Amino acid sequence: MLFHTTQIIRQGIQMDIEKNIQYLKGVGPKKAYALGRLGIKNIYDLITYYPKRYNDQSEIENISSVKADEVVNISGRILNIQERASRQGMKITTAILADDTGSIQLVWFNQPFVKKTIKINEHLFVQGKIGYAYGGYGQLAVKQVISYFSLDTAGKKRNKFLPVYLLPEIIKPKFFRELIQRVLEKIDNIPCALAEPLRKKNQLLAKEDALRAIHFPASRNQLATARKMLIFEELFMIQCGLIYIRRLNDKNKHSIRCLGNNKLVRQLQQKLPFQLTNDQSRAWKEICHDMESAIPMQRLLQGDVGSGKTVIAMLALVKAVENGYQGTLMAPTEILARQHFNIFCTILQNLNIKTGILVGSLPAKAHKNALEKIANGQWQIVIGTHALIQDKVKFFNLGLVVTDEQHRFGIAQRANLETKAKCTPDVLIMTATPIPRTMTLTVYGDLDVSSLKHLPPGRKPVRTFLRTRTARPKIYKFLHDKIDEGRQAYVVCPLIELSDDINAISAEAVFKELSSGIFKDVNCALLHGKLPSREKEKIMQDFLDNKIQLLIATTVIEVGINVPNASIMVIEGADRFGLAQLHQLRGRIGRGQYRSYCILLSDNKNDKSRQRLSLMEKISDGFQLAEEDLLLRGPGQFFGSMQHGLPDLKIANVLSDAAILLDARKAAEEWCNNKSNDMNSIIQTIKLQYKNNFFKITDV
Ligand code: ADP
Ligand code: MG
Repeated sequence: MLFHTTQIIRQGIQMDIEKNIQYLKGVGPKKAYALGRLGIKNIYDLITYYPKRYNDQSEIENISSVKADEVVNISGRILNIQERASRQGMKITTAILADDTGSIQLVWFNQPFVKKTIKINEHLFVQGKIGYAYGGYGQLAVKQVISYFSLDTAGKKRNKFLPVYLLPEIIKPKFFRELIQRVLEKIDNIPCALAEPLRKKNQLLAKEDALRAIHFPASRNQLATARKMLIFEELFMIQCGLIYIRRLNDKNKHSIRCLGNNKLVRQLQQKLPFQLTNDQSRAWKEICHDMESAIPMQRLLQGDVGSGKTVIAMLALVKAVENGYQGTLMAPTEILARQHFNIFCTILQNLNIKTGILVGSLPAKAHKNALEKIANGQWQIVIGTHALIQDKVKFFNLGLVVTDEQHRFGIAQRANLETKAKCTPDVLIMTATPIPRTMTLTVYGDLDVSSLKHLPPGRKPVRTFLRTRTARPKIYKFLHDKIDEGRQAYVVCPLIELSDDINAISAEAVFKELSSGIFKDVNCALLHGKLPSREKEKIMQDFLDNKIQLLIATTVIEVGINVPNASIMVIEGADRFGLAQLHQLRGRIGRGQYRSYCILLSDNKNDKSRQRLSLMEKISDGFQLAEEDLLLRGPGQFFGSMQHGLPDLKIANVLSDAAILLDARKAAEEWCNNKSNDMNSIIQTIKLQYKNNFFKITDV
């Protein structure tokens, strides 16, 4: 089963699947660079760069049945060819094409060479867009010829499904097609995650055949079988990878079991400034039940922004402490970790529970001190960022791992934190981003789910408005008035600094404009991810203390932080964000007693884009928005931008391929459970397909 080498040998031609594409004929450094930016570095990347769609030339329509604005394939005999000049001096070539049902005019603008390539009486295939003929009294014509070729001579050349790839300008489609064709002709024995018996059992093509067919299908049927094989393989691979990661954890570990006493937890509940909502109480009951059972907890706590997940994490952590274990809470940013830390300290001090924090920016001495206190158990609750998963961090007796805003982490990162427990710890994963069931299954395996469906009482929904840039003066005036009333505000921008991308709005430019203009008399600050953490921290603290009234920021403020006095948010270039992300951003306001306003600015005139953004005006429920986003943008975009910890899938779609996913999952479990199977070959293929993105652990 092991692939001893990736050298592919066929008919004496050798081709290394990991060979750099730069050395392929016709590629060279410039094109290699452009392709590299698409993630195509070696031959394997090239042949697994699948067509975005196909130009289907397989079905020919009758000329009599074509309609205006359609793109059609027609074929027939050329009756007549003419050339004339338009009044604007354009050369116009026209021809009449006739089949058994009728005839239609073909039109080419400024392409005088066309005349030399077609002949009267010749049989021609034409793909083009139908429109009304000029001065033709409502007659139809092929106004835009997309492609055409002679059927007499080109019978063989004709490819019924022409693959269409997403490519940069410098890579011409024809060149790319031929490059892939050339490579596919030469290679054989491509590393595949599916062993032959498994392929046979699931009636799947060999990978070589599937690859050839996905790029150059001969029919719809063939395309479908090729897709099925590649989707199955991809999902199988991911499932095996997840099982592998999980196994690294489980070796010979015992699970722990908390008691149902809850004395300390009850003390905590009395100290809380509010009563748990019904949803919170139910979630807490479910978590208690898990923690008190002998089976390790694997629970997802799902709840919209502001639904009150933090307090549930606190209860669980205190329960772990009460039972003599350490608990840890990992947050995606330092700002968030510090905010959690502050809240925990204030509330837990009176309960005599020691809470500590470990983040990347700690000075060396404090860092060393933190490592010691974590290792000797003096810190019972440890809050931190990715800094927690460094090798140096050793826990005394970790029993509960909580991850906040899980979608910001890779799967491997959470798994790594779990390995720091000597037992199999209880695991609580919190997310404000609703994850469809198929997705949880893909990423986490089976998880129990608790949901906080309703927000704590007294919240007023954020009023949201979609506006264009022309409304800016009015909006700024409104902002200024609110600041004069004592409120604080955010202006969120898609980029930090001006880039080549002239359409995006940079936080830096907006900051300059506003802080020296209409908001000259207001304390403004600029916050973005590239600032040193200490500076970020200071700005956030000043904003929290109301020393800053207007915060101009990038999406670093997206997760978690809580400033109840901030009640207005302006989002520049709103069309650049997904709905789920806009909703997360909007969740930063509407956290206090004040009426809150979110103003989305977008100059994108595209109907679809405005329609999408206008959903934000109508819908305040995160789950509903996420579903709409999924429908509108498709899972690629949706999940891509959410960084669910999975590498970008090459072909599978976790929603529409749910049925295959379940099969692949079952197959992966069976396969991995059979000790005689070799996991290594699969891991190798995963690495080949996703580089380091699967097992990656982001550096702190
Ligand atoms: P998220 O689920 O987005 O992490 P948080 O845990 O930050 O939400 O909670 C948001 C705010 O709601 C916090 O200020 C918190 O104190 C408050 N909160 C949480 N639970 C309740 C409750 N039951 N009643 C009133 N306020 C609550
Ligand atoms: Mg939170």
